[in-house]
Amino acid sequence: MSQKPFSPASLAAQAMGWIDPVTKAVVPPIHMASTYLRDEDNGYRSGRIYARADNPTFDQAESTLAALEGGAKALVFSSGMSAATACFLGLAPGDHVVAPKVMYWSLRNWLGTFATQWGLSVEFVDADRTDAIAAAVKPGKTKLVWIETPANPTWCVTDIAAAAEIAHKAGARLAVDSTVGTPVLTQPLKLGADIVMHSATKYLNGHSDIIAGALVGAADDEHWQKLRTIRAQLGTILGQTEAWLLMRGMRTLFPRVAWACRSAEALADRLATHPMVAEVLYPGLPSFAGHAVAKKQMSGGFGGMLSVRVKGGERAAIASAARVELWKRATSLGGVESLIEHRASIEGPGTPCPPDLLRLSVGVETADDLFDDLDQALRRGHNS
Ligand code: PLP
Repeated sequence: MSQKPFSPASLAAQAMGWIDPVTKAVVPPIHMASTYLRDEDNGYRSGRIYARADNPTFDQAESTLAALEGGAKALVFSSGMSAATACFLGLAPGDHVVAPKVMYWSLRNWLGTFATQWGLSVEFVDADRTDAIAAAVKPGKTKLVWIETPANPTWCVTDIAAAAEIAHKAGARLAVDSTVGTPVLTQPLKLGADIVMHSATKYLNGHSDIIAGALVGAADDEHWQKLRTIRAQLGTILGQTEAWLLMRGMRTLFPRVAWACRSAEALADRLATHPMVAEVLYPGLPSFAGHAVAKKQMSGGFGGMLSVRVKGGERAAIASAARVELWKRATSLGGVESLIEHRASIEGPGTPCPPDLLRLSVGVETADDLFDDLDQALRRGHNS
């Protein structure tokens, strides 16, 4: 090769540089077929049999994501939840797993209900403390350590390399929900993780118009094939059109994330001294508890997600969210439009989320417009 390998940002922009061999189209078609022709000698030399197992429209998104994460293989799923739960369904009843107390709430609920009833023994820990993970693993019995970093909605940070070492010593795998980290800022597999999970609904797609999930594996081994089988058997595959939209969104992943990181950092700095704000939670702030670890394992920024704790408590937080004009009051994150959410309301009873917390997903509007809108909303919310 006459030049150095292309950067991940360039690979993503061109979806691995794929060109249709017949038409020379620079954008792939959507393959709608649910079934594939069998060869006359009864074989399936195309490698495709039935679209519950896979679909050619997945190929580019999966190979691009595997390249961005430095993994062997990727699988796209019908949602982040179906990607995440596949990792646990790949275990056996009786297996022990360690998961964070602060994590995506719906997965935490599933682990505490369905997964536990099914027979997994689930231990929730303060995953921002490496010693708490080490104390929870049971060598030989723990099969999976699950972490999310930065973690919803307080953005606490787990040391991925340390968690991988602890998991591996105990004979367990480490899986990382890196939805907020994105492959732009963090590559957990390079830090020792075995599996990376994304709610591809968020930054990977980036336009709030599909629900999708993805797993990336460090190795294409027996365990990876099991995850592939779970997807095919449960039918938790991504629709063809959604897979196409996912790839279309991933082409602009790097500029979107870079923009969101810059704006989130600017907002965190300005909100830290705002008279109506009690505390800003953002891994990029030097005062944030997880800042040193975030600095070690994230590069290019600290993400587009932050939370503010509003002076005046829950009432003032909800009243402020009611008064935004540019920010959109909605759940989810990682889209081009900035979202604000009173998180405790959606997580419900038992949430570790403080009642005065507003979660902010920073999109690609200007940081000045976003700050001015929040400023007026916080002031009006406080005085209401
Ligand atoms: N993980 C994180 C960090 C999330 O924020 C979400 C969704 O909000 C999920 C997983 C679940 O993903 P999905 O909604 O695509 O099923």
